[in-house]
Amino acid sequence: MTLHLTNARIPGERGLLGNLINISIDDGVVSALDFIGQTTSVTLPSATRAARVVQGDDQVIDLDGRWIMPGLWDSHVHMGQWAQARRRLDLADATSVDAVLERVSQRADSADPALVGFGWRPAEISGQTSLESLDAMTGEKPTYLFSVDMHSVWLNSAGFAAQGVTATESGVVSERACFEIAKCVSNIDDETLDAWIDEAAREAARRGVVGITDFEMAPNSAAWRRRISRGADTLRVEAAIYPEFLETAVEAGMRTGDTVASTGGLLRVGPLKIILDGSLGSQTARCFESYPGATGPAARGVLNLPLPELVSLMGRAWAAGIAPAVHAIGDEAVDMALDAFEMVQCAGTIEHAQLVRAEDVSRFAQLKVLASVQPRHLVDDRTAAERLWPGRTGQAFAFRQMRDAGVAMRFGSDAPAAALDPWQAIVAAVTRTAPGGEAWNPQECLSGDEAIQCSVRSHVAVGQPADFAVLDIDPLEVDALNSLTHDLPTSQVSATFVGGRVTHSLLEKGSP
Ligand SMILES: [Zn+2]
Repeated sequence: MTLHLTNARIPGERGLLGNLINISIDDGVVSALDFIGQTTSVTLPSATRAARVVQGDDQVIDLDGRWIMPGLWDSHVHMGQWAQARRRLDLADATSVDAVLERVSQRADSADPALVGFGWRPAEISGQTSLESLDAMTGEKPTYLFSVDMHSVWLNSAGFAAQGVTATESGVVSERACFEIAKCVSNIDDETLDAWIDEAAREAARRGVVGITDFEMAPNSAAWRRRISRGADTLRVEAAIYPEFLETAVEAGMRTGDTVASTGGLLRVGPLKIILDGSLGSQTARCFESYPGATGPAARGVLNLPLPELVSLMGRAWAAGIAPAVHAIGDEAVDMALDAFEMVQCAGTIEHAQLVRAEDVSRFAQLKVLASVQPRHLVDDRTAAERLWPGRTGQAFAFRQMRDAGVAMRFGSDAPAAALDPWQAIVAAVTRTAPGGEAWNPQECLSGDEAIQCSVRSHVAVGQPADFAVLDIDPLEVDALNSLTHDLPTSQVSATFVGGRVTHSLLEKGSP
């Protein structure tokens, strides 16, 4: 059976605006592209006019002039964490303690046995947290409000009691104590987690997403094999490997990029994740300069392993065909990761690369190390970066420098740190600001086309996988991009295809 997508429009062909094409798909791959003519006016198509028609053995879906583009990838996701976070009380926009309490009060009557919130920012929020004020809102229901970096949690008395932890006056506990509580609160059975992940995957498909790299700290490959065997088929997944699972992966002969058997081609072996430094917000990202006012051994942030260990771990993985993905945020950590890539001479990615010295930007290109970056963080971390990396933010999120130096870039969200939504990454890279604000270091802005290229892994071309997002707008219009982001979940993504399979569609509403 051949699937024909007819009357599709390819964005960005300025000279050819209005050119329509028919796309034929066999076995999940584009088998033909036919230019079929021009339309003179560019009007938004109406959802009811599109229809799926069966002609003999073939199927036809009329896209009625909508724009078609390669499906989107999110190259850095913690899928289990995200699936849970998106069900939690969202505290991301709360700028004050009162605002947090206000949101909590709206949810306090829900039937859930516990109230779990996520996303408040301890470093930026105004007002003082207290055990007392949270108790007043929540009573007997155990309540856990996690900070956006998951390094702090604000509990009520019932929460402290349920966890067997001594209550603090502020209600907040941090670091190790917080991690332990997070582990307990996040400990749900596989069946529930898989159902929640499926829900999150469908939501991603509604935004045009066709694939993710999953960096969940878990035996990812086995978990995704289980999910796919039980019917999960919305996304392609690259499942990252953590060092504690490396030997098992090597013994099993897993190599980065290999398709995992019996998964319908949906699951591939991902990279080995190595966490080299910390984060900006917690002042643990390893930098060449100290954090303002910081003293002592961690004044410049932390390194989780010394260079020789990093090199030996990367070498061990690469000898078995597993490419490393090294988490490095501060400029010294990035520099050291590049040293290691140079010594091992292997392919791979540096994850985050938030602060990168100019000379290291060119090393990325020379060594062909891929920069796996999260543009949405530049919106959220702008203030923190100005405060913690004073005078150096010209080298923060330096996407234009990377692009011009020929560095290969991929965009991700690091969900749950930001939403699993590549449009937010694209818009952040293009505008470098929250909606309506002034661009931060505007010389580093990318064009819409450049940004989209960092979020796709295929082309609309013969021989390519039929992974598509179909839009009601031209995604290369910056205004259109902005409206797309404001309108989440995106009503303008009218269909998503993975290997020629519909994973999301608004096209056939109203047709027989
Ligand atoms: Zn991450």
